[in-house]
Amino acid sequence: MRIAIRMDDITPDMDWKKFLRFKEILDDCGICPLIGVVPDNRDKKLRIDPPREDFWEYVKGLQEHGWVIAMHGLNHLYTTRNPGMFPIGGKSEFAGLSYVRQDEMIREGKRILESRGIVTDIFMAPSHSFDKNTLRALKKNGFYVVTDGFGTGPFRTEDLIFYPISVKRSASFEDTRAGIVTFVYHTNSMNEKDFEKLESLMDSGRVVSYTEFKKLEIRDRSIVEEASEFVTAKAKYTVMQVRKRLKG
Ligand SMILES: [Zn+2]
Repeated sequence: MRIAIRMDDITPDMDWKKFLRFKEILDDCGICPLIGVVPDNRDKKLRIDPPREDFWEYVKGLQEHGWVIAMHGLNHLYTTRNPGMFPIGGKSEFAGLSYVRQDEMIREGKRILESRGIVTDIFMAPSHSFDKNTLRALKKNGFYVVTDGFGTGPFRTEDLIFYPISVKRSASFEDTRAGIVTFVYHTNSMNEKDFEKLESLMDSGRVVSYTEFKKLEIRDRSIVEEASEFVTAKAKYTVMQVRKRLKG
């Protein structure tokens, strides 16, 4: 399996040192990732450095350079504990809210991005959490691609295209089937070991730019595949919760 890179939590006040270190590693291999930009970040946990004044110009520059931009929620605030249709997180900015409210939020996020010169039709849900109303509101507001779900390549469900993420990195790495999965990174919380792992991943020659997804055929999914994804996602979440508890 080939591997695409996704970087979450891109904000004007993120940890720039880590972000730029990550970028340098990608640049050295000529790889362009998907980045999830928060239109109007209000999540204090993502505020690390003083905000970069030229942030939006900088992001536009990345897009011109081949980086792919996704809208990562609106404010990145978790307002519900509803894990939604792809339950690998236990909280959400969207799932559980009314269609009218979600439509407003998605429209507002898009408006903010466009006012900054950023146009995208890709959505990245904070904490991977969305429900049927989110998907309906996305379609209404011109989003066609969601970066989530499990699989080996793009698939269509609910009239949207999903570019899958990896269930388990080591398993995706060993998987010899054709296809692409996404490895998800939060640069703000990466440590030295994480960077070392990233470097050895890049050395493997498996990593491709995010735009490679566009070259793959889009599959329709069966209800059985959908149900199995839900169960896998729920199991992944449960395993992570148990691990967290064991760590104390
Ligand atoms: Zn996030």
